[in-house]
Amino acid sequence: MKIQFLDLKAAYIELKDGLDAAYSRVMESARYILGNEIEAFETEFAEYCEARNCIGVGNGLDALHLILRGYGIGTGDEVVVPSNTFIATWLAVTYAGATPVPVEPDERTYNIDPARIEAAITSRTKAIMPVHLYGQPADMDPILAIASRYGLKVIEDAAQAHGARYRGRRTGSLGDAAGFSFYPGKNLGTIGDGGAIVTNDDQLADKIRMLRNYGCRQKYVNECKGFNSRLDELQAAFLRVKLTCLDEWNIRRSTIAEAYSMALTGSALVLPFVPDYAEPVWHLYVIQCANRGGLQEKLTGAGIGSLIHYPIPPHLQAAYKELEYGDGELPLCESLAQNVLSLPMGPHMSEVDSSYVVEVIVR
Ligand SMILES: *Cc1c(COP(=O)(O)O)cnc(C)c1O
Repeated sequence: MKIQFLDLKAAYIELKDGLDAAYSRVMESARYILGNEIEAFETEFAEYCEARNCIGVGNGLDALHLILRGYGIGTGDEVVVPSNTFIATWLAVTYAGATPVPVEPDERTYNIDPARIEAAITSRTKAIMPVHLYGQPADMDPILAIASRYGLKVIEDAAQAHGARYRGRRTGSLGDAAGFSFYPGKNLGTIGDGGAIVTNDDQLADKIRMLRNYGCRQKYVNECKGFNSRLDELQAAFLRVKLTCLDEWNIRRSTIAEAYSMALTGSALVLPFVPDYAEPVWHLYVIQCANRGGLQEKLTGAGIGSLIHYPIPPHLQAAYKELEYGDGELPLCESLAQNVLSLPMGPHMSEVDSSYVVEVIVR
């Protein structure tokens, strides 16, 4: 038996008719940038997120970067970020010219720990950027309360959390603005790169529409030195097809997660913890294991794909050597980097597949 970490081919096969029709529609239209498809997708995805505005951009990193730019956050400013995240969260802050200030995770949820945020706030802090990591919503209410006390923006990194809910509300509509990624492996993934900003802030939305398109509201009239980062028509058309089954595919992921949790309770593994406030979308099913190397070898030997999210935290990457963090300085995220393992997870796994994964783990 062979079980891929994520089966993208199966996703294409299930949606082949719709995706092929979307492709033909865009090719026939001969309109490839900023046409009807992106406009329609923006309306549909804003509605899905229960928010007022969506702006399609080139990728998730650009989405976060453009939010910061839109709020005028840059040189000399600080942004509070999780220590435990994919490096894009940090890079967005760096691209804007600001400094990422890491805060350690809650030990049960792996998401930024609200109780540790205030200690990281200085007179230069402009925003908090919580990440809904692995598809689990961060604990937003205390974060929003701190932000309102200090006059900070709250920017959600929702790149792994399309459709997740926090106290009944969709991620992407909880803070001032949110960045989404449509990288193929995400819960809502396209056939290439893509991203979006979702926000209830109309003024920010207007600014980002200009920033993503060379600083123009009107062709060849440049109000500022903007960027070129637009979700293209083909990707928008594919995303419209995939959005129609996002909820169903998220439910399938939950079914797999439940099967894992049920079968592995009582094993030596640390399983994902879901707080009362959370309706996660299981972008990843992440366990901790004292002998991770051994477990991964066993899975590989049995034909089962697994991945580590993430093996090196941003502060210890060569990319961030100028911040001069040393080993042991952010021990919680460093310990996660040593022990976490992501089991196969996706909308095209069967119950037979997840049972086989469990059987190999406990074997
Ligand atoms: C994927 C991801 C991003 C970046 O998205 P891209 O589309 O790859 O640029 C940002 N943050 C997190 C947490 C992600 O997982």
